[in-house]
Amino acid sequence: MANDADIEASETVRRALATALAELRGRIDAAARAVGRDPAEVTLIGVSKMQPPDRVAAALAAGLRVFGENRVQEAQGRWAPLRERHPDLELHLIGPLQTNKARQAVALFDAIQTVDRPKLARVLAEEMERAGRRPDCYVQVNTGAEPQKAGVMPDDADQFIEACRGEFGLPVVGLMCIPPIDDEPSLHFAFLREMARRHGLSRLSMGMSDDFELAIRFGATHVRVGTALFGARPTVRASG
Ligand SMILES: *Cc1c(COP(=O)(O)O)cnc(C)c1O
Repeated sequence: MANDADIEASETVRRALATALAELRGRIDAAARAVGRDPAEVTLIGVSKMQPPDRVAAALAAGLRVFGENRVQEAQGRWAPLRERHPDLELHLIGPLQTNKARQAVALFDAIQTVDRPKLARVLAEEMERAGRRPDCYVQVNTGAEPQKAGVMPDDADQFIEACRGEFGLPVVGLMCIPPIDDEPSLHFAFLREMARRHGLSRLSMGMSDDFELAIRFGATHVRVGTALFGARPTVRASG
């Protein structure tokens, strides 16, 4: 079976992706400038989870190099072969991480944005030591305190961030959040920004297709955009 590295996008798909990417970069630039920020401070993460390989190939052809995935297994299958061809790739894990996948995650990703509990922090520290590789870590904060959602609870976050940096010695660079669907996102973005400021953390991963401009206004340094770049995700996950 052909792997993703062998897939080429049709001219139509290439053109569509290049247009969407240019438009998105334009909106990111405008949102940054509107609040007096340098657009270069904002990194676009193309969220490629579940997207067909030809759309990903087209994004690569259009020059995008920073991608986000939410499952280790899926990301491994897709990106391990592509990595050889594109050594300048930057891969972010943005989905929940089980401790039994930590080794694979440390080997594959350049950033792990979903550090959210002591057991995971400990295992990640062990795997980084073992592999001699230290991906950037973000602490995911469950800013809406939603029971079903990943992320450290807001009340526990300060202590957890300190433990990650101190006790576990993880290379924590920033914070990440996914606001509740029905809430005003700006409250969550402001909350996360203030928490990062308290801890002297410079990176904020917040904002998705529907709210990345607002997130940039509130200081996002990394926006995670899927559908606004690639189009709607097919509803059935490709196997493997
Ligand atoms: C899927 C996903 C995104 C992208 O969502 P879109 O609405 O398609 O932009 C961003 N962040 C996380 C954590 C995701 O799981």
